[in-house]
Amino acid sequence: MKIEQIKKELTGLFRSMDFVSNNFLNKEEMNKKEFRIFLNIYQQLGLAWEFLGLQCKHWEGYKRTTDKKETCKICGKVKGVKDVYYLFPEKGPKKLGMKLKPNSEKIFENKREATIIDDTIIFHGALLNVDVHNSYKSRLLDGKHQINMAAERIVKLKESGIECHIDQHLIYIKMNDTGKKLGKMKYGGFPWEIKRKNLKNFPVIFDFDENHRFLGLTILR
Ligand SMILES: [Zn+2]
Repeated sequence: MKIEQIKKELTGLFRSMDFVSNNFLNKEEMNKKEFRIFLNIYQQLGLAWEFLGLQCKHWEGYKRTTDKKETCKICGKVKGVKDVYYLFPEKGPKKLGMKLKPNSEKIFENKREATIIDDTIIFHGALLNVDVHNSYKSRLLDGKHQINMAAERIVKLKESGIECHIDQHLIYIKMNDTGKKLGKMKYGGFPWEIKRKNLKNFPVIFDFDENHRFLGLTILR
């Protein structure tokens, strides 16, 4: 949006907010239920203000308010206050956040203190989680033994019940097992450790070059 358009939208919005405030929120004879409705409208307009304000680049500078804060002359936002909402362009790639990595040698007391970011977005139906943390102390399932969890950057993608985890050491894919009859045990092994006739159960195709260097793999669903 251009500066003129934002100015126009904001002026109209402030007028609506003032209207609701002056005519309904400051009225003496109003019952509680009606008051709530107008309060909600006012808050929803406030939300629109926040979103419009995100597009304001505060082109015309700030003015000092009576309580010694500096507010934008166009959108009225207070200088230096962090924006809470994200606004994305409808077309083109959407960028959110920076690539973070573990940043400390220290072993923290728990996961919460060690966490740098643990954030999730559900993007057109696909779930993406980024979990970046430093080392921390953790208790094993028995609650007695303490181990140190390594510092990691883990990216998790979930789509149609299939999960893919990527961290510094591993790429792990978990198939969708809902509705499948599974055995009680769970095994793992390199392909050469598995008998040829059992290997045929695995719909995996390896990609490799003429020197048999691994390039990737395809799993048939
Ligand atoms: Zn502004």
